[in-house]
Amino acid sequence: MAEVAFGGGDAFGLGADAAAFGERVRAFLDRELTGAAGYADPADLTGLAEEFERELSRRAGAEGLLGSAVDAAHGGPGRGAAHQAAFDYVAAACDAPLVDTALTLAGHPLLHDANAEQQAYFLPRMLRGEILMCIAYTEPDAGTDLRAITTTAAGDGDGYRLTGVKTLVTGAHKADWCVTIARTPEPDRPGALTMFLVDLAAPGVTVRRRPTMNGWTLDEIEFDDVRLGADAVLGQPGQAWRQLVAAVRSERSGLFYLGFARHVLDLLVTYVRATRRGGQLLADDPLVRDAIAGLEIDVEAGSVLAARAVAAPGSALASMAKVFGTELLQRLAQTATEIAGHAGTVWAPPHSSAPPHGAASPHGAAGGRFAWEYLERVHGTIGAGANEVLRDGIADFGLGLPRQAR
Ligand SMILES: Cc1cc2nc3c(=O)[nH]c(=O)nc-3n(C[C@H](O)[C@H](O)[C@H](O)COP(=O)(O)OP(=O)(O)OC[C@H]3O[C@@H](n4cnc5c(N)ncnc54)[C@H](O)[C@@H]3O)c2cc1C
Repeated sequence: MAEVAFGGGDAFGLGADAAAFGERVRAFLDRELTGAAGYADPADLTGLAEEFERELSRRAGAEGLLGSAVDAAHGGPGRGAAHQAAFDYVAAACDAPLVDTALTLAGHPLLHDANAEQQAYFLPRMLRGEILMCIAYTEPDAGTDLRAITTTAAGDGDGYRLTGVKTLVTGAHKADWCVTIARTPEPDRPGALTMFLVDLAAPGVTVRRRPTMNGWTLDEIEFDDVRLGADAVLGQPGQAWRQLVAAVRSERSGLFYLGFARHVLDLLVTYVRATRRGGQLLADDPLVRDAIAGLEIDVEAGSVLAARAVAAPGSALASMAKVFGTELLQRLAQTATEIAGHAGTVWAPPHSSAPPHGAASPHGAAGGRFAWEYLERVHGTIGAGANEVLRDGIADFGLGLPRQAR
């Protein structure tokens, strides 16, 4: 089969330059991920050991691939959001650890709200791939409704003392720093929310790993009277809500989900081409062909939608792309396991050999990947804004329907 250029040669409408950049990223990852299987760590979200992820980040930084969206004034390449989206798509399609983790998770507040000293410290390290960051907003009783946050940063001289528990944090166990929010005693608004940069090695910080349903971990962070200087404030005291809304919106890169979808659909196509049931090749089964063709339409349409969302920041398109991409991944996993039958329910216990980078299960379809996908894709519709909440936003913000009273 002829090799199809990335996104039809223009990255689904992001442009030929972004597509060419995506191909550059793919060449880099093809080369650098060759030995990844030797560093499998199924207990990590990326499926790879921290040492491998850090080294890969440094190499990507040295190649100048990181931080496309960081402008020249901040020391970045200033390639723009389209190139960043192409990067995200290709990284996902290659099963790469999210090389740009720091910039993806913490980049927005650092670029838009941080002071000059903070930017001078963090941005160069991020661009060189030398730092891992996490964001810690969610609490046991404050998920969708972050107004219920109870973590406090009490005044202490010219600084603060941070106390509280954050939960469901991605990658805190390996991160160097986190961006978090807490209630501060602002003179005009007691209990207003303020955003902070916290060194996770600081005294009083404890990170606990909590297992997810398919064997990796999300983290809980306990802040026990952690002393923060005034320079830990990110942005303006009491302004975290505004900063937070902007940062969470920027996290929704729909093309990232579509990169995963492309990869899993390719695995499914390979599987049905090579697998026989009752003497018949699965690829010759009309029902299988029908299902796969439908998924191909969805992957292409979803990619174009996600690319359009990149070109229209702040619109409801980003929410649409996130909803579509995450639900498509669930449909894909469901269809793949149905087509594969029993083999589609087998993955690779013990966990040391789990997908995506561990040794393939000899009994599981696609080495156990379809069963793993079935579990892995559940969380996508919950994190980064639950799909129900995003649909609500599409209805009022996107379509102008009356807002629901809550
Ligand atoms: C894989 C993963 C990674 C995550 N990583 C991070 C991270 O790095 N940092 C961080 O701070 N947080 C992180 N989170 C937390 C995530 O932001 C929350 O899970 C999310 O905000 C939902 O909060 P909740 O889980 O408390 O669910 P709840 O808020 O209790 O909601 C549960 C369900 O109720 C429904 N619901 C809630 N409110 C409404 C509404 N207004 N309208 C309609 N339906 C509603 C939705 O179906 C929702 O899924 C992560 C979560 C997951 C699953």
